Amino acid sequence: MRAILVIARRGRFPRVALALAILLFLGTACANSFDGGQVGSRLSVVATFYPLHEVASRVGGGRVDATNLTPAGVEPHDVELTSRQVDALLDADLVLYLGSGFQPGVEDVLETRDGQSVDLLAGKPLIEGGHEEEEHEAGPEEEEEGVDPHIWLDPVIMAEIVDEVESHLSSQDPAHADTFSANADRYRDELTALDETYRSTLAECQRDTIVTTHAAFGYLAKRYGLNQEALTGRSPEAEPDPQRFAELADLVRREGVTTVFSEELVPPDLAEALAREAGVKTDVLSPIEGLTAEDEDSGANYRSVMEENLAALSRALGCGAN
Ligand code: ZN
Repeated sequence: MRAILVIARRGRFPRVALALAILLFLGTACANSFDGGQVGSRLSVVATFYPLHEVASRVGGGRVDATNLTPAGVEPHDVELTSRQVDALLDADLVLYLGSGFQPGVEDVLETRDGQSVDLLAGKPLIEGGHEEEEHEAGPEEEEEGVDPHIWLDPVIMAEIVDEVESHLSSQDPAHADTFSANADRYRDELTALDETYRSTLAECQRDTIVTTHAAFGYLAKRYGLNQEALTGRSPEAEPDPQRFAELADLVRREGVTTVFSEELVPPDLAEALAREAGVKTDVLSPIEGLTAEDEDSGANYRSVMEENLAALSRALGCGAN
């Protein structure tokens, strides 16, 4: 605008060109304010990894521009932020994340942010300490402190996350509260149905111990009465402890565990080594920390992956007709 005025004052441009420039300027301004008015004005929401992004997209629908900070195929515990991602975090109307060290790089950036950031671990009944009850003198390289962040793998807690996201979106954009509420209802119904399928499928199984690589399934295990035994800690990056490896191989043989679970976003080497040692097979149990690019292309989502997980659990544990 200032540039146009300067040009006009200097009188270098013919009137027609000046009029054109002003029209162009007004056009841009109109487009912007239109975008900022009833038709556009979508809330920008940054979710720091897949499950939270799905909640933001489903509840926000067309009213929200939701971005997933963790690209497809990347394990969110490891995400390293580019300067563009840092800007996205700083500029968003709303940031949805998990605190307590799940993605420390994200938390560092959020400390410098002015806008609203919601830690969805806050106020949840959190599991402390992962598998630390093992108490096997792990020494100075002891398991990381703190809480287990993997709450989204419990569909009941996932439904609570939907409630919270609905309420934050509605308070930021009250004009569309009814839309958010209707979207959230639909999504919650799916999660309730998923929970019921889990309950009925896992009600009668021959076994109840699941052996996994990283300890991501604590909330799921707690909800459905399973016992999780994990090779590493709550981060897939944790170094496996040889003593734990031997202990688990022993447990697999002793309890007749049929399967060691690996996951999609982490190389299956550890799970395969343990399965080989114990003479059992491997299968995939997804912690849904992210979808693979192929998953995304084929339209997979939280529910479909949770259903695949249930089928894998059912096979491994000998549930129902299995
Ligand atoms: Zn994890």
